[in-house]
Amino acid sequence: MTIWLASGNPHKQRELAAILPGHRLRLPEEGGIRDFDPPETGTSFTENALIKARALYSRLAGAGTKEAGPVLADDSGLCVDALGGRPGIFSARYGGSEDREGSSLPGGKKLGSAERNALLLEELEEAEHSPGGEDRRGSCSRQRSCRRQRSCRFVCAMALLFSPNRFYLVQETLEGEIVPNIEAARGGGGFGYDPIVYIPSLGLTVAELPEEEKNRLSHRAKAGRAIGNLLDTVMRP
Ligand code: IMP
Repeated sequence: MTIWLASGNPHKQRELAAILPGHRLRLPEEGGIRDFDPPETGTSFTENALIKARALYSRLAGAGTKEAGPVLADDSGLCVDALGGRPGIFSARYGGSEDREGSSLPGGKKLGSAERNALLLEELEEAEHSPGGEDRRGSCSRQRSCRRQRSCRFVCAMALLFSPNRFYLVQETLEGEIVPNIEAARGGGGFGYDPIVYIPSLGLTVAELPEEEKNRLSHRAKAGRAIGNLLDTVMRP
């Protein structure tokens, strides 16, 4: 089946094509839409995924595309428990001027991955030293409490939209812990927050996972497989 992908990112197209064999994923520009970048104004991953899916559907329909659906859209990010779930939906903009909940840089600047990771570790340390955090820090000598404090997850929401009011939503996670300090950031694979997210059961950070392993375990892979199963079910005669 041909599926429109609500993203301008060819890397995402390749990654999802491998997860959804037997389907053809088309980028917006293949439908003549060159500037696809709708504002992510939602308050959750699922809302943002749906916003992107609806935006592409309406642009394709507006451009007279015969089959404007199904459209597949995703939204992802890192949620850190001790930071109340931040950076969450602001993960790509964390530390930049569009990070509505976080610290801002003047002039619309965006941080690079390494700077963003260092900032997150600083913020986490601050939270641990804050009055409310001292108690939690005090119990850090006990391993279990310490783990809870550093717990985090990558989250990926995907929307599969057949028409504006007919859609499916899935959300998946990859659970981990933020490394204790920036010196413990490890690994050359992956991207973004991968070097600072440690998977205790594997003894590795996400950036240390071989690519095939990340593509099997990741929040995006799990959500993509759920979408694949949905497609099989929905398309069954
Ligand atoms: P999206 O493109 O709007 O889904 O934004 C995703 C942002 O979340 C990225 O820019 C990264 O900062 C972060 N992110 C999502 N998935 C991953 C991952 O697998 N590894 C590292 N960072 C991720």
